[in-house]
Amino acid sequence: MPLTDSIRTLKGVGEKRAALYEKLGIRTLMDLIQHYPRGYEDWSNPTLISYARAGVPCCIRAWVATSPTEHRVRKGMTLYRFRVTDGYTQMQVTLFNNPYAAAKVHRDQEILLYGTVVADGRRAEMTSPQIETVASAKIRPLYPLTEGLSNKMVETNVTAALELLSRTGLPEILPEDVVEQEGLCDRLTAIKNIHFPADREAIEEARRRLIYEELFVLQLGLLRLKSRSRRLNGALLHQDRTAEYAAGLPFTLTGAQSRAIADCIGDLRGACPMSRLVQGDVGSGKTAVAAGVAYSLIKEGWQAAMMAPTEILAEQHAATLQKLLGDTVRVGLLTGSLPASRKRLLHQAIAEGEIDFVVGTHALISDNVQFARLGLVVTDEQHRFGVAQRAKLAAKGQDPHLLVMSATPIPRTLALILYGDLDVSVLDELPPGRQPIETYAVGTDKRDRAYGYVRKHLDEGRQGYIVCPLVEEGEEPSDLQSATEVYERLQQGPFRGYRLGLLHGRMKAAEKEAVMTAFAAGEIQLLVATTVIEVGVDVPNAVLMVIENAERFGLAQLHQLRGRVGRGKHQSTCILISDNRGDDNLRRLSVMKATNDGFKIADEDLKLRGPGDFFGNRQHGLPQLKVADLLSDMPLLQRAQHRAALLLDADPNLEYHPALWQAVEHLFRQVGEQGLN
Ligand code: ADP
Ligand code: MG
Repeated sequence: MPLTDSIRTLKGVGEKRAALYEKLGIRTLMDLIQHYPRGYEDWSNPTLISYARAGVPCCIRAWVATSPTEHRVRKGMTLYRFRVTDGYTQMQVTLFNNPYAAAKVHRDQEILLYGTVVADGRRAEMTSPQIETVASAKIRPLYPLTEGLSNKMVETNVTAALELLSRTGLPEILPEDVVEQEGLCDRLTAIKNIHFPADREAIEEARRRLIYEELFVLQLGLLRLKSRSRRLNGALLHQDRTAEYAAGLPFTLTGAQSRAIADCIGDLRGACPMSRLVQGDVGSGKTAVAAGVAYSLIKEGWQAAMMAPTEILAEQHAATLQKLLGDTVRVGLLTGSLPASRKRLLHQAIAEGEIDFVVGTHALISDNVQFARLGLVVTDEQHRFGVAQRAKLAAKGQDPHLLVMSATPIPRTLALILYGDLDVSVLDELPPGRQPIETYAVGTDKRDRAYGYVRKHLDEGRQGYIVCPLVEEGEEPSDLQSATEVYERLQQGPFRGYRLGLLHGRMKAAEKEAVMTAFAAGEIQLLVATTVIEVGVDVPNAVLMVIENAERFGLAQLHQLRGRVGRGKHQSTCILISDNRGDDNLRRLSVMKATNDGFKIADEDLKLRGPGDFFGNRQHGLPQLKVADLLSDMPLLQRAQHRAALLLDADPNLEYHPALWQAVEHLFRQVGEQGLN
């Protein structure tokens, strides 16, 4: 039985159930046996009724003292009641509308009950417990489910799949010496035990093996993606033209910008291709750094490419770069929404080297795009890209230099995993003349006053944003309504007579572009938008931001949003509107009020969200891991990294480890497919 067979080959899985599994991304038997429990219910250690802890579900082993009796309370509501005893204490059990469960309970029978005991003086009671025969005294898996698919169904199907597997066996994919030296159990045992463990130790042993395997495969993939960095430099820079670049700028580079550019130029003149991360808070001027680095290379006949996460941002970057680099550099914009004919012309121009700097969305990594001489790849706000996508763009040149720009400080440990020998430059200085953004948090009762404040500034010629929490492509259509609704409400009420604009991710690229252009030109005074404006849109005359439902945003995201204002010479203000009095929310809002420093905010964010969320794999473009957690499993990760490197030294293309190679492909395929938001 190949594990790539459809789950339909299992008894009891028909079209309907397969469709439910599909929702969970489960198609094959392999997918199913890798659908690991999210937790367990321990039926293996029943406790006495009097030992049950308040509010904590537990398992009780007891004898049925009285047969269930039926009580019709009202139409559509029938109770079934019976009493059980564990030999010391009696307990009343109540089932609601469940004649099937009641029919299975007989006097003097020994049963297991799983539920919460409510004790009131001498009386104990359990309502709607799960009931099983004593033969089921084991640890039971709890699966991630979807409506229509019960835990029981998954248990049954997984059991059947594992039975098939026991007959055919499951080949080991880790190298023998790794299994042995790391003291791991074999793969089949691990998979059986993660689903149906005999005890807690079995779970731990299984988890350790599966985590190790996952991290090992992850590391193999990542190491292969970045193996390029050891090769000799293709795009070697001969002359540093930063002074020439700086002379053409409308402003003077900050010290931090000059240092970052110098770091990069140093890399470009070295023996290996650059892999450098430029970290700088919102508004620190990362674009001018990227342009500066590209300038010298372009002047020696190389091309540069920049990938941005959204069309709006790509458009704006293209315009900004053209301004910064001057007329002698040809900047092109490549997005998915271009008409096919224009796209073709652009592809041709890129292939013939007639475009020096190509800015685009994921359209850049399409197979049709070929560069004449790609020497530099820049990714902006890189955490929105998969590592595989970045690698794919880089593969369009011969070991091009890599420049990653990020406003989110990436913890050193994670950066090492993602980039290996990555170098980091920090922009720790803002362009001169910036005033800190004043930030207020208010309840909805103060909304009208906030609007009044906004109107006053619009009357003085400034511009502003109203941000609604809902959002980009892929969101519920009903959510989309709200930005539109706010826009209409404001247009008809508080901001009647003002020039309002609406911007959200569901609009066509051309519409978005028209709105952004109008806003940048000052034709729109107040822009009602979703978080599509979060990344990078730059309008210095915009000095006001009102964020609705501020509780819906994470701290880092609030900071990113707020970074859209405070970019010009005028004092800027950010008003966070929220009625949520929850501790976390209050703390978030107070951090926002207290500081403008993105690094401090990232620190707080980490504390508030906890490492698991912060390191969210998706955030950083890593494949989604099933069992491992990058932070808490760091020690295993380091060992896996070390061993993966050893293996690749011996077998760089995994020719002698085809099953491992397959696993790597499988893990990274998801990332390649992952859409850009
Ligand atoms: P971010 O780091 O958030 O990407 P940008 O590159 O968008 O920041 O730059 C923010 C704004 O600061 C832009 O309007 C840009 O023109 C301006 N800027 C960048 N560098 C300087 C500088 N050295 N002096 C003055 N303004 C600058
Ligand atoms: Mg930027």
